Amino acid sequence: MPKINKILVANRGEIAIRVMRSARELGIKTVAVFSDADSTAQHVQFADEAIHIGPAPASQSYLLGNKIIEAAKTSGAEAIHPGYGFLSENAGFAEQVSEAGLIFIGPPPEAIRIMGDKLSAKAAVAAYNIPMVPGSDSGISDFEKALNEASAIGFPILIKAAAGGGGKGMRIVNSREEFKEQMDRAISEAISAFGDGSVFIEKFITKPRHIEIQVLGDQRGNIIHLFERECSVQRRHQKVIEEAPSAVVSSEMRNKMGQCAIDVAKACGYFGAGTVEFIVDEKLDFYFLEMNTRLQVEHPVTELISGVDLVKEQIYIAEGKELKIKQKDLVILGHSIESRIYAEDPYNNFLPDIGTLNTYRRPQGAGVRVDDGYEEGMEIPIYYDPMISKLVTYGKDRTEAIQRMVRAISEYHISGVETTLPFCKFVMEHPSFISGEFNTRFVEDHFDGKPPEGEEDEELVAIALAAYHLKLSKSQNNNSLNHKSKKWKKRLQN
Ligand code: ADP
Repeated sequence: MPKINKILVANRGEIAIRVMRSARELGIKTVAVFSDADSTAQHVQFADEAIHIGPAPASQSYLLGNKIIEAAKTSGAEAIHPGYGFLSENAGFAEQVSEAGLIFIGPPPEAIRIMGDKLSAKAAVAAYNIPMVPGSDSGISDFEKALNEASAIGFPILIKAAAGGGGKGMRIVNSREEFKEQMDRAISEAISAFGDGSVFIEKFITKPRHIEIQVLGDQRGNIIHLFERECSVQRRHQKVIEEAPSAVVSSEMRNKMGQCAIDVAKACGYFGAGTVEFIVDEKLDFYFLEMNTRLQVEHPVTELISGVDLVKEQIYIAEGKELKIKQKDLVILGHSIESRIYAEDPYNNFLPDIGTLNTYRRPQGAGVRVDDGYEEGMEIPIYYDPMISKLVTYGKDRTEAIQRMVRAISEYHISGVETTLPFCKFVMEHPSFISGEFNTRFVEDHFDGKPPEGEEDEELVAIALAAYHLKLSKSQNNNSLNHKSKKWKKRLQN
């Protein structure tokens, strides 16, 4: 069995650090790679060594498989961990890594290839008894045929890109009349995002919940599941808040979904850590959506309720070790919630807000985990995903996890950019979230995109305070003004 002594992490930001932490605990040396934009980044400082791989745009650095493999060889690393995003679901890269005599810490390339295309994924699992959303099993080529198929399924329907990801290339069609226009749009979006215009039809589930199952499989055919994560609070079809366990999944439903997820993994000869996503309708019937063949952003909530370090398991599996964890030994302990803190303005349609973190103070205390890659004074580069951190809380039950999230948000001080912090607070305090009665329409149904009244009042108070201190300053020295103005500035910014 190959023993891994050094890992190159082909990623940046919080996930690179997260992977390196587990490696370090196992006594494994770490190698970071970085672009021009990241020469002083946290992941570079954290690693035992770091190798520059190119200019800031990801296409000239973090997506250059050859350069990354070369860096691994130069540094003497035996294995490459891809994190999520970038090259993590690139079957060609996984293959190249093996061909170079290195270990890819992830699933076999064939599994990535099958699951990377939503249509081939559906075809692969067809032999198993897995519930699927009604829809086409091949790409749309003939418009008339597709329209007939859509009518037979019944509107509204969803047009999806087979190569889809990140919610791109997805269009809802409410009636026959809209079909042609939306199909053309979906195809052109899919071509520009994925270079592949293949699209297909799925029934649009009107008030769905997004619930996914974490799986782990070794190279000897053992596969287990580590329960579910609910990721229904989304904007632009993308997750913002995740939790484990789900507020609505019974142990019977969990067992069924877990078994389906294991079957999906079996269907593609999976090993490593992976996630099988399901969409759940109002009757709590679930349907297979897709499989993500990598570590998910939201994996910490599973780690906190199961006590399993998923990255360590990925490393053991890559070394060829047998899974030590048995399904029957796994239990859910407590509840965990993750808030994704993006540099985005929730009061301006969640548009990215790039800038410098003038203030950056993390929350601390019991039941709080912050996975991030930033320090005060750092700039958020425009080249990459605008996620600043993942704020994760853990409690003995859902109520305590929510209370801790509200408390942690109040302790988290960020200024210089707008963030999703106030939105996450809004969700935690919303009766629908608290009661567990919510779905992927949470933002449309409940969030009006305006700052709460209270906050506006506070701003007025801050402005009044500012005026007062300005007046005061005329009769005082500058130091005192600086001190006081900082205080009200902070009030304005928070
Ligand atoms: P992507 O790979 O682009 O992330 P997914 O298939 O994982 O696409 O779907 C992303 C999100 O889009 C889901 O979490 C859900 O909110 C919504 N969605 C996907 N399929 C459907 C469907 N058939 N009906 C309703 N909503 C859907």
